[in-house]
Amino acid sequence: CGIVGYIGNKDAFPILIKGLRRLEYRGYDSAGVALVNSDTALNVYKSKGKVDNLVEYCSDKNVSGTVGIAHTRWATHGEPSALNAHPHYSESGNLAIIHNGIIENYSDIKKKLMANGVKFRSETDTEVLVQLIEYIKEHKNLDLLTAVQVALHEVIGAYAIALLDKRTPHQIIVARNQSPLVVGIGDDEFFIGSDASPIVEYTDKVVYLEDGNIAVLHKGEELKVVNILNRRLNPEIQTVDINLGQLD
Ligand code: GLU
Repeated sequence: CGIVGYIGNKDAFPILIKGLRRLEYRGYDSAGVALVNSDTALNVYKSKGKVDNLVEYCSDKNVSGTVGIAHTRWATHGEPSALNAHPHYSESGNLAIIHNGIIENYSDIKKKLMANGVKFRSETDTEVLVQLIEYIKEHKNLDLLTAVQVALHEVIGAYAIALLDKRTPHQIIVARNQSPLVVGIGDDEFFIGSDASPIVEYTDKVVYLEDGNIAVLHKGEELKVVNILNRRLNPEIQTVDINLGQLD
């Protein structure tokens, strides 16, 4: 339902939580956040109900990190619960994903992965994405971007996704098909939103990702946009002017 992400030099957590609040108007049943900190630990925290519950749950947790993704979920597959809330992570714990949309062929992919020994935690269609990407990455020994491209070839459905890998903690990979995703370009930092509302208070430079495209947000580098066949594309950077009310 709602997607937020940040990679840069600031503390990600407050930016992510504020972003989730900007997206609350869309409605949701649970919320969660994943952060990579300087020790390349990947911390994932999730809770049922309001963003306030997530903040409360995180109050005694380590929320440090300058790279993170966060989500408000509107359940389509699997009941609303903390377990089914996003981010979902791979069995190895290396990879975390948030996802808007529906993976139509998730049960076929899930069966194949389970037959190959992959264990699932949740009932969601989303977990299939992260387990598939990790499985392909490990078994074919691919970098994350290539693994995402290979995995998305197998996926039928609508998605906007954002992915974190603690083995390569200086990048977030995002992709979209029939579900909106916006990247904000700041000064040595990137923002991610399912719409521009979590982004516009930080930067007015945005790229609306197009269907079938994948973007690599790498700290200290230019935004890289490719398609599923790895053709490099020139992202159209737009200037937005949206006035938001104060949110404190
Ligand atoms: N289909 C996914 C789920 O049920 C994502 C739902 C959403 O867009 O929030 O977990």
